[in-house]
Amino acid sequence: MKRHNFSAGPCILPQEVFQEASEAILNFNNSGLSILEISHRSKDFVDVMDEARNLALELLGLEGKGYKALFLQGGASTQFLMTAYNLLQKKAGYLNTGTWSDKAIKEAKLFGEVVEIASSKDANYNYIPKGYEIPKDLDYLHVTSNNTIFGTQMKDFPEVDCPLICDMSSDIFSRQIDFSQFDLIYAGAQKNMGPAGTTLVVVQEDILGKVSRAIPSMMDYKTHISKSSMFNTPAVYAVYVSMLTMRWLKNLGGIAAIEEMNDRKATLLYSEIELNPLFKGFAAKEDRSTMNATFSLTDEDLKETFDAMWQEAGINGLNGHRSVGGYRASMYNALSLESVGTLVDVMSELERKA
Ligand SMILES: *Cc1c(COP(=O)(O)O)cnc(C)c1O
Repeated sequence: MKRHNFSAGPCILPQEVFQEASEAILNFNNSGLSILEISHRSKDFVDVMDEARNLALELLGLEGKGYKALFLQGGASTQFLMTAYNLLQKKAGYLNTGTWSDKAIKEAKLFGEVVEIASSKDANYNYIPKGYEIPKDLDYLHVTSNNTIFGTQMKDFPEVDCPLICDMSSDIFSRQIDFSQFDLIYAGAQKNMGPAGTTLVVVQEDILGKVSRAIPSMMDYKTHISKSSMFNTPAVYAVYVSMLTMRWLKNLGGIAAIEEMNDRKATLLYSEIELNPLFKGFAAKEDRSTMNATFSLTDEDLKETFDAMWQEAGINGLNGHRSVGGYRASMYNALSLESVGTLVDVMSELERKA
């Protein structure tokens, strides 16, 4: 039986993508070859890479606006340092909204001065700071749109004169935003776009080439742009499966269509968390994430019963991150409303029993 997968990442992908991706392992495009054994320079794969790069820009509404899409390796964690390597000359600003922002800050400090514009660390990152001042002399401002571990999400973004960089790993392609307000977006594929192994980078080309330091080829966005994301062997299979997932999303009606679904799923779960006295939410209400809902039991004595119940219902991946505890339900694009319904049923069943 297929389980209801609420895992935070690597995450659920559409069933039809799994199907098509599995067929390509045995016979890719009727070539008589597996996608795992073909050259990344073959026309079949170059077409995949081109389609993936174009789909990313198309879905984000960034075609023809000077942006380039790349599929790189090393995860979003490598982007923590690569952004600073390429863009930090003197001073950069960071909004600290969670573990991942904190890690990005640590890397950036190796390259220049880092100003923490605001932080919600004081409350274990259960809210998004607001009303902060942004210095005028920044090389860039870095924000994290969705805080996967804590379940908070930025609903709007600061207006700045400098380039705006966003780690969108866990909510890319999930909601409509004016993506052109960002100059660089990065996202590890395994949260909402594909399997682990590749990272999408969308960068406005004219912000590059402004730092004086020498940048090693693999760390230089310009290298990857000039080689159409094929400077070295890309993560062929991860790019392919990400491309299939983006195709699926486009056929569904793009981000506008999936946003509506994501809102319905989040509303269903958060209503239950609010109405059911046995549960309480972790994140501040106005900052709650539509992707990762964090909550806990009001009576820890019910833990064993509740855990047995959701496991019995075929639910997977509900345990919270160790730094928050409790539960985390990740409701990425491919998770169905029905799966959220199953979880909500279990939660109300617990209330009836207790
Ligand atoms: C998971 C995650 C990362 C780290 O991604 P890796 O690909 O494992 O390096 C960074 N930022 C956010 C917001 C994440 O959710």
